[in-house]
Amino acid sequence: MELKYCYGPVGSWRLGASLGIDPISRPEKVCDFNCVYCQLGDCATVRPARAVYVRPEELGPELAAIKAPADYLTFSGRGEPTLAANLNELRLECARRRPERTAVITNASLIYSEKVREDLAGFDFVLAKLDAPDMELFREINRPADGVSFGEILKGLILFSKGRRGRLAIQTMLIGPNKACAPELAALYAQIAPDEVQLNTPLRPCAQKPLSCAEVELACLLIKTELKRLGKGGIKVISVYSEKHPEVSPVSAPDTLKRRGKI
Ligand code: SF4
Repeated sequence: MELKYCYGPVGSWRLGASLGIDPISRPEKVCDFNCVYCQLGDCATVRPARAVYVRPEELGPELAAIKAPADYLTFSGRGEPTLAANLNELRLECARRRPERTAVITNASLIYSEKVREDLAGFDFVLAKLDAPDMELFREINRPADGVSFGEILKGLILFSKGRRGRLAIQTMLIGPNKACAPELAALYAQIAPDEVQLNTPLRPCAQKPLSCAEVELACLLIKTELKRLGKGGIKVISVYSEKHPEVSPVSAPDTLKRRGKI
């Protein structure tokens, strides 16, 4: 089955069986970050501005034709999902076509915007990126487009968290430059107060070396300790090494590999 807008389902340590929805679906990466560890490669950033890439009437029939069940319909793919101006319409189309819960994996670059926060609030589970505790490391790791502000992202994450209706996870990719930042990151997690913190390291092929299991588990311990000290011990902290990675067969392997930068 050839797919244009969907991929997977894939086995995700954070989401179980996750059927991917790509609201951008362009051959090239469309992102306002150019993270040093991006599995889609080192590409120029786009402007942090929204546009319509995929229409609901294009996505709907393809989604309905996929018979594989999933735990989540997950908005992700070859770009940043919140750059899709019709993200909410696409999510509603998913809800019309399938019974599964919806999730979105976002770099949070536009979360300062009330409209983007509203769009995200409709999802059952929002997984938002925060890799750096300050502007300097943010620039070094995420290499954002001009006009993307670390301070505005942080403010937006705090506001979103306060008004959220579904679950919120903050996902952090641990690599060399931020591996010693556990206490500073924990202080930001405490301010944001998500349901969960997800510590990752680039285990799929990319330009950055992953941290070892011992290094990630040490960061996990330090973050849990600091959160407890700050009175936020209720925030769950999980890591890519400690969680199960379910085996799931994709409906179309090429369409899945394309979203993982492998073809
Ligand atoms: S936010 Fe995601 S898609 Fe964008 S550069 Fe970073 S890892 Fe790649």
